[in-house]
Amino acid sequence: MSRQLFLQAIQRRNTTGPVVFGAGTSVICHDIMQRAGASFPEGHTDAEAMFKLALAGHTLAGLDVVMPLFSVCHEASAMGCRVNWGGPDMMPESGPPIFRAASEITIPADLLTRSGCAVPLRALAMLRKELGDEAAVCGKVFGGWTQAYHYFGLEDFLIKTITEPDEVKRILEKLLPVTIRFARAQLDAGADCLLLADHATRDLCSPRAYETFLLDLHAQLVEAIPAPLILHICGNTVDRIGLIARTGVACFHWDTKTGAPEAIRKLAGDRMALMGGISNMRLLQGTPDEVAAMARAAVDGGIDVIGPECAIPLATPLANLQAIASIGRERRTA
Ligand SMILES: [Zn+2]
Repeated sequence: MSRQLFLQAIQRRNTTGPVVFGAGTSVICHDIMQRAGASFPEGHTDAEAMFKLALAGHTLAGLDVVMPLFSVCHEASAMGCRVNWGGPDMMPESGPPIFRAASEITIPADLLTRSGCAVPLRALAMLRKELGDEAAVCGKVFGGWTQAYHYFGLEDFLIKTITEPDEVKRILEKLLPVTIRFARAQLDAGADCLLLADHATRDLCSPRAYETFLLDLHAQLVEAIPAPLILHICGNTVDRIGLIARTGVACFHWDTKTGAPEAIRKLAGDRMALMGGISNMRLLQGTPDEVAAMARAAVDGGIDVIGPECAIPLATPLANLQAIASIGRERRTA
């Protein structure tokens, strides 16, 4: 039931159907680590631990989807970045840049069998086998914009977007196959859909830069990847939701800094599904009643999949996460 409902919801195929819950970003917190019997950093580097933690998104948090790639570092690790996988209190970070120019970018022939990719691919297959039709399995890939932060350094890359726009286009084009190959491998492993995360957030990428560098590339990914894509961009995206709708992505996973659900629905139009509605601040510091109220407001505002706006804080109380799906399925009326 969950699997079918989730896949319909991210494609806006049943807008009058039951309420659907989930997120394409990490829902792992300390309470889940304790209850699932697995922890970070193993949840990033060991397929069994990753499987156990991801499964808890459905079994403990009551979401209709599971997603096992909790960090931003899997492609970066497989591409050759030195990754610090962190710990129970710290999310992974990638080390120093590895390239200086587009001409230096080489994609390893064994990209998909390197542990950065191979571990999540194994975990996705385990989740698919375990869950069958019970819940949707979502994979995750990063677009070239976010990958370039790891490979070139955040600041150096952003400077290039102003001083060397043609070079940036070459970089993003050369990185496109990393996203496509990892995406297709995740689908082969059993993922139903994919979160495409690209951190083209307002403070790091103007709407003009989004249009110049990313709109076409995101549209190319929609064409090249044979499954529904959920685009995730953190922060306030009010000035680019219209552009995002033009890429053809099935669903947009938005941040509550962007505005109220009704306003986001209006900007997105009728075709693109929307995911999110629950602020991280409320999840971390609010009460279950406050989270439930936010979930109801998201349903009433026309959000298709109700869930956290981004990777949840590690200290999030499980009761707050559980409060999202506690509002029940039968509320959607219009
Ligand atoms: Zn985010």
